[in-house]
Amino acid sequence: MIVGTLGAGQLGRMLALAGYPLGLRFRCFDPTAAAPAAQVCAQIVASYDDEAALAQFASGLDVITYEFENVPVAAVRYLAQFAPVYPPPAALEVAQDRLAEKSLFRELGIPTPNFAAVGDRAGLELAICEIGLPAILKTRRGGYDGKGQAVLLTPADIELAWQQLGGEPLILEQFVAFERELSVIAVRDLAGNFAVYPLTTNHHRDGILRLSLAPATEAVAVKLTAEVYAARLLKHLGYVGVLALEMFEVDGELWANEIAPRVHNSGHWTIEGAESSQFENHLRAICGLPLGTTGAVGYSAMLNLIGGVPDLATLLAVEGAHPHLYGKEARRGRKLGHITLRADDEEELLEGLAILQPLVEQAGEG
Ligand code: AMP
Repeated sequence: MIVGTLGAGQLGRMLALAGYPLGLRFRCFDPTAAAPAAQVCAQIVASYDDEAALAQFASGLDVITYEFENVPVAAVRYLAQFAPVYPPPAALEVAQDRLAEKSLFRELGIPTPNFAAVGDRAGLELAICEIGLPAILKTRRGGYDGKGQAVLLTPADIELAWQQLGGEPLILEQFVAFERELSVIAVRDLAGNFAVYPLTTNHHRDGILRLSLAPATEAVAVKLTAEVYAARLLKHLGYVGVLALEMFEVDGELWANEIAPRVHNSGHWTIEGAESSQFENHLRAICGLPLGTTGAVGYSAMLNLIGGVPDLATLLAVEGAHPHLYGKEARRGRKLGHITLRADDEEELLEGLAILQPLVEQAGEG
């Protein structure tokens, strides 16, 4: 089978690397030349509104997927005439708009922070009356890694936040004093079979994921709740493929923050840390193959390499460390790779982390 991937970043690259052992072949599409996936499969370089290029990309493909949730829905719908597109475009549409996303959580009975749509300055004042402060103002579309967001702690912050973000559709959310950020990576196949990976604990700084730990230590009830929420979403969306649900843990409850209709950074640990990785399972699902086991193999930590990469030989000398470099040029704030640290018990994992974390922080921005 030939799989076409919209977007040719590191996720597309890791999808291709996971698919080759299964005999799958890949083609990717991205407006930026020499993207990370282009080093491992043929890339078509064109804009997402270039229908001729999209048709050329789709020619001979068995299935089409995407690795980037800001790919225009129109491009995905256009491609659906040539080959099946999974996950379904409807999931992409919901994930692209924070208001639609949060409204869906509410509709499905999945707790989420209070929110209100903001269209103009007067609307912001009204939303603050409704939600209260502290709150967080976000662009409805296009934000990622903490971009397009402003925290409002006191009324004095309103003006600056409006200057930064005003002029496009916004959403105001209740600011959640969470204990932990957790994510669940779930997968659903063409027949509706469903599987989840163990919960992952995520640590962000400046809105960017820095460290994930799996399996997260959590009460059984929390784990089951996460599974129920993920299952509800996937079923409702008629979903095929991998989906990530990011959540806040608040007083033993889970509140949904957002979904990513694709393989996800907080699931990278599954390459070494689970029986079948999220990348392999996404491909199994969209290609009509049986799902692989999602159980964890020991304990894993995933460290993102942001802005700089430590010396490879030094990294490889750490027992259990598995570097994944994305073939990108170093730039401030850029995800250049990640390291999975795998261990048989938590103590061993923490020992390895104590060595790795300073190396990662010195080389980049932690
Ligand atoms: P997002 O782009 O929505 O994933 O937000 C990026 C990060 O900002 C999250 O991982 C949280 O650390 C933080 N954040 C987002 N929304 C909220 C919220 N409503 N309350 C508190 N922190 C938040």
